Amino acid sequence: MTDSHAPRRRNAREDDSTPLLSVTDLRTVIRTAEGPLHAVDGVSFSVRPGETVCIVGESGSGKSITCRSVTRLLPSAAEIVGGELTLGERSLRALPPEELESIRGDRIAHVFQNPQRSLDPVYPVGEQITETIRIHTATPSEEARRRALTLLRRVGIPRAHERIDDYPHEFSGGMQQRVAVAIALAGEPEILVADEPTTAVDATVQARLIELFRSLTDEGTALLLVTHDLRIVSALADRVLVMYAGTVVERGPVERVFDRPLHPYTQALFRSYDATADRESAPPRRTIPADGCRFRPACPHAVERCAGGDQPTFQGHGTDHEVSCVHFEPDADATAVLADARRSSPGRAMEPRRDGEGTQDEGSEGPEGPGAMGEPE
Ligand code: ADP
Ligand code: MG
Repeated sequence: MTDSHAPRRRNAREDDSTPLLSVTDLRTVIRTAEGPLHAVDGVSFSVRPGETVCIVGESGSGKSITCRSVTRLLPSAAEIVGGELTLGERSLRALPPEELESIRGDRIAHVFQNPQRSLDPVYPVGEQITETIRIHTATPSEEARRRALTLLRRVGIPRAHERIDDYPHEFSGGMQQRVAVAIALAGEPEILVADEPTTAVDATVQARLIELFRSLTDEGTALLLVTHDLRIVSALADRVLVMYAGTVVERGPVERVFDRPLHPYTQALFRSYDATADRESAPPRRTIPADGCRFRPACPHAVERCAGGDQPTFQGHGTDHEVSCVHFEPDADATAVLADARRSSPGRAMEPRRDGEGTQDEGSEGPEGPGAMGEPE
């Protein structure tokens, strides 16, 4: 455990210019009966050690396919057709499957919304954790079992010493998700890719997982987290990526994106979050254009130059808060788009964590409730 009184090192992270994971212009296409679907269409981002990057965006925007592209854990109809993925100095895109397999779980671990994806029903949970430890860290079996027990305690399994030989079906859904996280951590990954890990669990488990993720990133593990819950984003994120229709439309430090959402889609997302507070109604089905700004059919500010060509060039507001919108002008404060920003902030109640706050004390509080913009699978 890190010293809970130590100031948070977010600035140090920002200054560290070497990303752990870099994704550049990622393009992943899914073959469907209606033709190729550009599920991820030119996505770029990076995650540094100890940093938490959250991906938000409505259902179907490509968040999961982005995460799964990282280690090619893709549906069989999906294929990465462009872009670069690097882990440290290593290109993942070109890696043969067996080498990728050895990176999975070892350097990059996944946690899914549905814990059953990570659990094997025919082995006791302790054995699954122990096995992962042994595969990835060449630990003798007795030591591996001790570590498995420590991990089960760390993810919050009560009476872990009695539960270690139980089978997955003997655990509740929330407990299964904790076990799945323990398996993910067993290989001591450098980056955890967690896709809606708290959507299917109750508020208590959710709070516990948030605390766990916090302590992991404090120890230097990187976290790429997909969540619909802006309260979780505000509790954990250093940086946010907002996705719409396979593209990133806005990215930046969480404080800046929350204080001043610049893209009309981000503004709409935040407003709908405030308005519904519980569950996002399914967005109306619109035909997504294949060029220009994908959001333009739904955008109140759409103009002719939003159409055609690549998505609008990212423009910076300050250092690293960037938006892909033709309306944005770094020095103009009075455009309609920016005026909307003032009405769309997720609100004071969700102030992002600041430096020096959010220690991992056992007693510190989690989020106020369960995930809000929940998306049924
Ligand atoms: P998100 O995680 O943001 O909800 P996804 O990444 O799961 O979205 O999906 C992006 C797009 O790819 C959606 O249009 C979705 O319908 C489509 N998609 C995802 N998985 C499959 C699949 N196995 N077969 C066909 N289409 C898929
Ligand atoms: Mg998803």
